[in-house]
Amino acid sequence: MRAEIITVGTELLLGQTLDRHSAYLSQECSSLGIDVYFHTSVGDDARRLLEVIRIASSRSDLVLLCGGLGPTMDDLTKETLARFLKVNLIQDSASLAHLQKIFAGRSLPIPENNYKQTYVFPGGTVFPNENGTAPGLAITSAGITYVLMPGPPKELVPMFEHHVRPFLIGLLPEKQVIVSHPLSFFGIGESLLEKRLSDIIEQQTNPVIATYAKEAGVTLRLTAKARDDQAAHDLIAPVRAQILDRVGEYCFSEEDSSLEEVVVSLLRQQKRSIALAESCTGGLAAHLLSTVPGSSHTLKGGFVSYTDEVKNEIVHVPKQVLIEEGAISSAAAEAMAQQTRQQFQSDFALSITGVAGPDPAEGKPVGQVFVGLAEVHQPTRVYQYLLKGSRQRIQLLAAKHALFILQQ
Ligand code: ATP
Ligand code: MG
Repeated sequence: MRAEIITVGTELLLGQTLDRHSAYLSQECSSLGIDVYFHTSVGDDARRLLEVIRIASSRSDLVLLCGGLGPTMDDLTKETLARFLKVNLIQDSASLAHLQKIFAGRSLPIPENNYKQTYVFPGGTVFPNENGTAPGLAITSAGITYVLMPGPPKELVPMFEHHVRPFLIGLLPEKQVIVSHPLSFFGIGESLLEKRLSDIIEQQTNPVIATYAKEAGVTLRLTAKARDDQAAHDLIAPVRAQILDRVGEYCFSEEDSSLEEVVVSLLRQQKRSIALAESCTGGLAAHLLSTVPGSSHTLKGGFVSYTDEVKNEIVHVPKQVLIEEGAISSAAAEAMAQQTRQQFQSDFALSITGVAGPDPAEGKPVGQVFVGLAEVHQPTRVYQYLLKGSRQRIQLLAAKHALFILQQ
């Protein structure tokens, strides 16, 4: 909704009165989500006021006018708007009763001039003035709503708070917020994920579900529109549950975090440490962890054990394992993880050994990768993968798989 504010009064143009109402009304509008595009101050002059109203009506949906509702000859905001809209004002009995009551309290006759304040727009809204004689008014014509308020601050502010603000809220198109909830997955491709969720994705209109392929992994974004945050979350919750029920084992973040961020934050929460021994990834998994601020609290260090000699002499993988099973084997991955954990005295150790390509090695195909996970007081586990892609891609996926099993 486009709004503008017109303040009426020659004293504003003479600089005798600082226009505080425009600032006040703008702030109030902004808090309601109404965009104010223009502020205009105009003197108590019918011709110029008519001109300003004409311009406002050509560019705004809501025109807030203040000042010029008094009883004197130079107060002509209402009369000028009535002329512009080509309507005849009618007397409002409640406003007349209010005027009579005020003057009865003062034991004074009602000055003839004041009666004009009891005239209102036919079919419009009247806002009672608890602090003065001039009621506020609203009228909608040709899709444009005009709101007229008195100039004195002690009248304007309470009237706005008690009557005009609720009126404006009633004008607003139903307020909507957009809430987006990410679900990040690893270990399942975008097309397989979509296939497994196709019925849910197709049925859903609110929230809508969109998939985004990431560098490694896929993010699903559930985006709901509702009147407030709570209502949007309520729409998202059952769909999220349905999705996680099917493919939850692949989900590692609901906050748009990377795998390394998730792992570091998990280890920090648990106050546990990690060390790594990497062969085909050349230290990439350790590097990924090191990119996360605060990783020094949990990442102890690691080996880049590329050759068999280093695997044996530095990491202490038994020669027999390397000879009988090979460096690219489940047994080698297991020994690498166990030995590294012991040497670093860490809570966890990850090992990665495999064939990044482009050529097979030890008779093992390109993409064959073993990841070992050693944990203090736990049996060491080894995972085997056959990864696809370029050398760099296989390295990245191997490192990410290693991180993924750590957060499971
Ligand atoms: P009345 O004439 O009965 O007092 P009115 O609705 O005609 O009421 P104005 O005469 O325009 O109001 O203003 C009354 C007083 O309110 C002004 O003298 C000024 O002190 C204050 N006022 C009016 N407009 C503003 C404004 N935009 N910002 C700050 N003060 C204002
Ligand atoms: Mg005035």
